[in-house]
Amino acid sequence: MEKNYYVCTGCGLLCDDIEVESEKNIINKVYTACRVGVAHMKEVRGEAGFRVDNAPVDEATAIREAASILKNAKNPLIFGLGTSTDEAQKLAIELARKTDATLDDTSSFCLGPLVEALLQDKIKTCTLDDVRNKADVIIFWGADPSDSHPRHLSKHSYFPRGSEKQRGWEEERTAIAIDVRKSHTAKICGNYFFQIPPEGDAEFIDALIAALSGKLPKTSYNYPPKKILELANILKGAKFGVIFAGLGLIYSLKDMEPVFRLMKALNEKANFQLVPMVGHYNMRGFNENLYAETGYVNRVKFENGTVKHGPEYSVVESLKAKTVDAALIIGSDPLSSLPRSVSKNLLEIPVISIDPCETLTSKHSKVYINTAISGVESGGSATRMDGIKVSFKPVVETARLSDEATLKKIMEAL
Ligand code: SF4
Repeated sequence: MEKNYYVCTGCGLLCDDIEVESEKNIINKVYTACRVGVAHMKEVRGEAGFRVDNAPVDEATAIREAASILKNAKNPLIFGLGTSTDEAQKLAIELARKTDATLDDTSSFCLGPLVEALLQDKIKTCTLDDVRNKADVIIFWGADPSDSHPRHLSKHSYFPRGSEKQRGWEEERTAIAIDVRKSHTAKICGNYFFQIPPEGDAEFIDALIAALSGKLPKTSYNYPPKKILELANILKGAKFGVIFAGLGLIYSLKDMEPVFRLMKALNEKANFQLVPMVGHYNMRGFNENLYAETGYVNRVKFENGTVKHGPEYSVVESLKAKTVDAALIIGSDPLSSLPRSVSKNLLEIPVISIDPCETLTSKHSKVYINTAISGVESGGSATRMDGIKVSFKPVVETARLSDEATLKKIMEAL
């Protein structure tokens, strides 16, 4: 009997080898997925729900109210979409254009600058399949995939045999962790763990660049120069090296310039690529879809058919400056995730929340539409953390609308 494989949308790896046992639209067993994926796929719950002012309403009322909020706003904010399909993201971009909205996603305060650099060919990158087949040196920098992307090391980056790496991790791969703490991933890297102080990344990069060109590496926190020279020697010998850049690295830098310099220095001595450790399963898809439409990966404002771009159109700055007068939040919980000093301004404007989960934001929204979990209850396509397109079908059926169907209905009601 032919096996049915599903895609897990639990993280940016979009594992496509998942088997499930389900009955009456309840998923009883999930095979192959990690603990995060199993929990994600078993998350399915109950019937569709629509609320206006926290009171249950029917679908038509919720859609009408959502459309009316957007129609009456001069500058609505559309935010989220990292856990929505490509199809829903493209509709959200169209909706933003139609309503002269400010449009942003979480990448504007995490990995957006790196994805943008990859799309602009400023940094060399590769696919996870290349990593599995060819990589001999891998660096987890400010990233702990053992917890954030639990199958990363086993399926792609460290443990598997690849076409050009048949002798595997025991003999042919070196895994290195550079981090502020001994994470689970750092423990796997053993002696190749380089512990740096918080916000010590830029200096460590400078010291490593010096070491790569044979100079004595120095840091104000007195990192042992010998260790940095040893690291530089390993990196210089890489035939196919990969840096997996995580949030720990990004949050410690003011801008990406040190990363660009490091990549240049590494590629003068060896062969290095960089892959951002995208967490939400389709954050990279949002960046790519918006880039294709506007030339920017995030922080845009549509106005009379034109597109503006800049830090003032980020979710944080536009909420801080109170330049937005309504918000459509899709698959995100800014009231929980943003600093209170910023997110509290959401409480002063009408908010529409489209989310499969009840969140703090959904509880404080004027309109709440409880949608299907994409990849579990609705299908579509998405972009894996390395830029590979992945299509998926739903595992079970639901009465809840997908993000795509919800946005389509709101567009029609405008
Ligand atoms: S690693 Fe990510 S995509 Fe793969 S099964 Fe786990 S949560 Fe799902």
